[in-house]
Amino acid sequence: MLQKFNEANKDIYVWVGNGLIHRDEAKVSVFDSVVQGGDAVWEGIRVYREGILKLDEHLNRLFDSAKALAFRGIPDRTFIVDAIHATLQKNKMYQDTHIRLTLTRGKKITSGMDPRLNQEGCTLIVLAEWKKPVYDNQKGIDVITSHIRRNGPQFLDSKIHHNNLLNNILAKIQANIANVDAALMLDDRGFAAELNGTNLFMIKNYVVYTPRAVACLPGITRQHIIDICQDNEIPCFERDISLTELYAADSVFCTGTMGELTPIRSIDQREMAFKGDHSLFQQIHQLFNISLKGFCTPLV
Ligand code: PMP
Repeated sequence: MLQKFNEANKDIYVWVGNGLIHRDEAKVSVFDSVVQGGDAVWEGIRVYREGILKLDEHLNRLFDSAKALAFRGIPDRTFIVDAIHATLQKNKMYQDTHIRLTLTRGKKITSGMDPRLNQEGCTLIVLAEWKKPVYDNQKGIDVITSHIRRNGPQFLDSKIHHNNLLNNILAKIQANIANVDAALMLDDRGFAAELNGTNLFMIKNYVVYTPRAVACLPGITRQHIIDICQDNEIPCFERDISLTELYAADSVFCTGTMGELTPIRSIDQREMAFKGDHSLFQQIHQLFNISLKGFCTPLV
């Protein structure tokens, strides 16, 4: 799975700071914190025909992450929502769109790590692109276990959705070398945490399990699946999951804005998907597709 350049995105406009600019001119300063230290937070958001999925939840997580990193001069919710709508309008994007929303600590007066060098407030970037879900949800994906551990609160809390993605990128490089789609990352104790860019679920004997959010991003799609299970009386538990349990599961799937729900076909060359009874996975997938309409903020 390697994304290709989409000609439809050739002339898109991107929101940077206070306004829209053609993608060829869209830039941040070399003094910006995201350049200096990956010092930024972000959200991946999807736009459907029905509107922007779980916009409030994404903005809540963005604000929580920015607060944890003690950003100052954070634009308010109305400003960000208006910037998103203005970007979608300018690009005439009403469906099949992925928004990469980034908030950096902003421009520094000189290079350096100290947040006191940031005296202009945050930089907002709204990058909206035509993009269908990245994974093939019919075929599924193959994954390997990476030796790179997903960090938990003892190092850099995975609950902060920050731009320091290097350990996930290193894991993805391992997956590329192994010629598979994604890397499964373990937590510091050796239990499954998540994939390098999506959350993880398994089904065993008609019960759904997902790792506790100790060393994974508390994904918005992940929570949506937990809620769907609860609403439909499907047993679903958050608990530690070992690799051996994953290998022996009836179905394993990953969740995230970029790929929605994707079955995992193999883990470390142990065949997974399509081997047993996947009716529960299919039911959850269907419930997810049906539920989308109810959780979208309409476009203006
Ligand atoms: N895990 C990681 C590491 C991610 O980067 C993401 C998406 N940004 C997810 C999981 C999925 O989260 P969500 O469902 O909120 O898109």
